[in-house]
Amino acid sequence: MDLHLVFLGTSGATPTVDRGSPAVLIARGGERILVDCGEGTQRQLMRSVGLARIGTIAITHLHGDHYLGLPGLLKTLSLAGREEPLQLFGPPGLYELLREVERIVGRPRFPFLVDEVKPGAVVETPEYALRTVQTDHGLPGLAWCLDEPARQGRFHPEKATALGVTPGPDFGRLQRGETITLPNGTMVQPGDVMDESRPGRKVVITGDTRPTEAVIDLAAGATVLVHDSTFADSEKERALETGHSTAREAAQVAYAAGVGTLVLTHLSSRHNWKELRDQAREVFPSVILPRDLDVLVVPYPDRGTPGLERV
Ligand SMILES: [Zn+2]
Ligand SMILES: [Zn+2]
Repeated sequence: MDLHLVFLGTSGATPTVDRGSPAVLIARGGERILVDCGEGTQRQLMRSVGLARIGTIAITHLHGDHYLGLPGLLKTLSLAGREEPLQLFGPPGLYELLREVERIVGRPRFPFLVDEVKPGAVVETPEYALRTVQTDHGLPGLAWCLDEPARQGRFHPEKATALGVTPGPDFGRLQRGETITLPNGTMVQPGDVMDESRPGRKVVITGDTRPTEAVIDLAAGATVLVHDSTFADSEKERALETGHSTAREAAQVAYAAGVGTLVLTHLSSRHNWKELRDQAREVFPSVILPRDLDVLVVPYPDRGTPGLERV
């Protein structure tokens, strides 16, 4: 199952010539989950993966740079004759915001579910869970986590046959984790015929935040952590005042959580990106600073490490 992150907008509070307002698309197989929808997101989608198949939009918090793209995107999807349902999740205040949005662009013509969510599990399917924790940004904010369960280890039919198991329903039972008893009384355990389970992938996107224990817990062992990295060391005080993180602080979170790869985003135009990268790398080596429309390919942990590609 493919898992890609498309960095649609990587700037901080205001867009620049090179960097658009915040939005990250999680593309998992045929599913599309959009995290945040800053101004201009719909055009960034058109320039990359297209507008179709977005089933979920998850908003981190209700600062304009993270949602001002919603009215335009919803309007365009309506005009395009979308019929598939769309669900929108966000922190308290989302209902109120949507009332305003609908006053401006009208009600979406497709099935549209809006849900104010609290920290915890939001969506749970057999394939992944979508969870949130509270961020620390001076208003209700949610960091989002897509978490896949461990994958079953490989089944070795030849080992089962060698132990005397007859191909058929008993093969299925073993693969479902059941122990079976052969006619001669011998017990065969799943571990006798299957490899150990392999970890799934975990992706965390914080939105704007100070470093927090809640995010460290959420991101424990994550494959990828996309963290607020608005400022360089020289503006540490300003990061504190405005509820953001420096690149170094983002790296400290990544280190504490033991993540695989740290992605820095929400970059202030006051700093050179290399400066942010270098300060983060002093704490945590595996740091990526994507440009807009870069794609991070996230393989299963036993198959490689995440790497950037252009759309
Ligand atoms: Zn922001
Ligand atoms: Zn903010």
